[in-house]
Amino acid sequence: MGTPVRHFTATTPDGQVFTVNIERDFRFDPHRDSLVCTHCDWSPSLLTMKKIVDMAGEHLASAHGADRGLSQQDNEGFRKARLIMLPFVAVLLIALFVYLQNS
Ligand SMILES: [Zn+2]
Repeated sequence: MGTPVRHFTATTPDGQVFTVNIERDFRFDPHRDSLVCTHCDWSPSLLTMKKIVDMAGEHLASAHGADRGLSQQDNEGFRKARLIMLPFVAVLLIALFVYLQNS
C-alpha cells in the first residue's frame, strides 16, 4: 500500500466529513500515485486529463453526498519531510559553491 501524501475532504449538508487520499507508492520509480477513497473501494485510474481535485470532488459529491467545502491539504508528515529537505539542499549548494571558489 502507498503512503497518503495529500487529502481531499468535503462535507455533507449534515456535517459528515468524507476524505479521499492520494497515496504514493515509493516502490516504483517514478513514484506511482493513486487516488483512494477512505470510505468505499473507489480507486480510479489517474491516466486521465481530468484534474485530480475535480475527480475527488466529483466522487465525494456523487457517491457520498459531500458537496460542500471541498478542500485539499498535504499530509502533515510528508510536508515536514519536504521542509527538512530544503535546508539540507541549501547547505549542499553552499558547500559546493565554497568548494568551487577554493579550487
Ligand atoms: Zn467513496
